[in-house]
Amino acid sequence: MKIAFIGLGNMGGPMAVNLAAAGHDVIGVDPVASPDGLTMATNAAEACADADVAITMLPNGAILRAVAGEVVSALPKDAVFIDCSTVDVDSARAVAEQANAAGLGMLDAPVSGGIKGAADGTLTFMIGGNADALETTKELFGVMGQKAVHCGAAGAGQAAKICNNMILGVTMLGTCEAFAMADKLGLDRQAMFDVVSTSSGYSWTMNAYCPAPGVGPASPADNDYKPGFAAELMLKDLGLSQDAAGGCDADTPMGRLAHELYTKFIEDGGQGVDFSGVLPWLSSRGHSDT
Ligand code: NAD
Repeated sequence: MKIAFIGLGNMGGPMAVNLAAAGHDVIGVDPVASPDGLTMATNAAEACADADVAITMLPNGAILRAVAGEVVSALPKDAVFIDCSTVDVDSARAVAEQANAAGLGMLDAPVSGGIKGAADGTLTFMIGGNADALETTKELFGVMGQKAVHCGAAGAGQAAKICNNMILGVTMLGTCEAFAMADKLGLDRQAMFDVVSTSSGYSWTMNAYCPAPGVGPASPADNDYKPGFAAELMLKDLGLSQDAAGGCDADTPMGRLAHELYTKFIEDGGQGVDFSGVLPWLSSRGHSDT
C-alpha cells in the first residue's frame, strides 16, 4: 500500500519504519524527525496526494485537527485516514466527521505498548470507526502491532484508551501507596509482593510492572525509574479522561484524584520520571500531606 505517515517521533518513527520494512511504500512527514532510510515529503498534502492510507501519530488533538484539514483535502476519495495519536474524544469525532464527509474511511486507533511496542511491532490498537475501513487496512495493524480491537463507532478507540489509562493511573497510585505504608509498618517488600501478587490486591501494576525495585519482574523501578511510561504522559491521559468525564457528565472521583496527584508529583520533580516513581515520592510524604 502507499502510505503517508505524519508524525515520526518516538512512536511514529519506528511504526513507519516497520511498515516500510514490510514492503509498503511509506512517505514520511515531520518538521523535525526524519528516521533513517525513510522517504520524506515536505508536507502532508504532498505525501497524501496519491496515498491509499494516511496515518498520523501526533502529540495532541489540537495538532491533529490542524493537520487533518490538509490530509482530508489531499487524500484521494476512498482512501483511509488512521489516527493513532492519543487525543480527546471530541477531536477524534470531529476529524472523523470531516473525513467521512469527504468520502474517506476514518479510524481512531490509539495504542498501548509504548516505545518498545512500537519498535518491536507489538502494539495493541483500540479502534473506533467504520468496519469497512478496518477491513481494508487490517494488514497494517498486523505489521505495527499484535492486537487490534474494534471498539465501536468513531471515538470508541479513544474512549477505550482513556478508560484503560484512568484505571492504570488509579491502580498504580493504589499499589504505590500500599507499598509506602507497608514499608512504614515494617513489612518486607518481597513478602508484600508475594502476598498481594497472588491475592485479591493483584493487578498489572503489582504483578507485571511492580513499582518497588528488586521485587517482581524487571520494571522501570529497577532502572532508577527511567521511563517506561513517563509521568507526564500519564498526566496527559488522565487530563483527557477528566475532559471526557466533564463532557459526558460522568462522576470519576478516583480519576480526578489521580490527575491531582500526578500533577503534584510532576511539580515535585516527577517530570521525565516513570509513572511508577510515585512510590519513592509517596514514601517521602507523611499522613498529613494528603
Ligand atoms: P513525540 O513528541 O516523540 O512525537 C510527535 C511527533 O509529531 C514529533 O516528531 C513532532 O515533530 C511531530 N509533529 C508535531 N507537529 C507536527 C505536524 N504539524 N506535522 C507533522 N509532524 C508533526 O511523541 P510520541 O511519544 O511519539 O507520542 C505520539 C502520540 O502517541 C501521542 O499522542 C502520545 O500520547 C501517544 N502515545 C505515546 C506513548 C509513548 O510511550 N511515547 C504510548 C502510547 C501512546
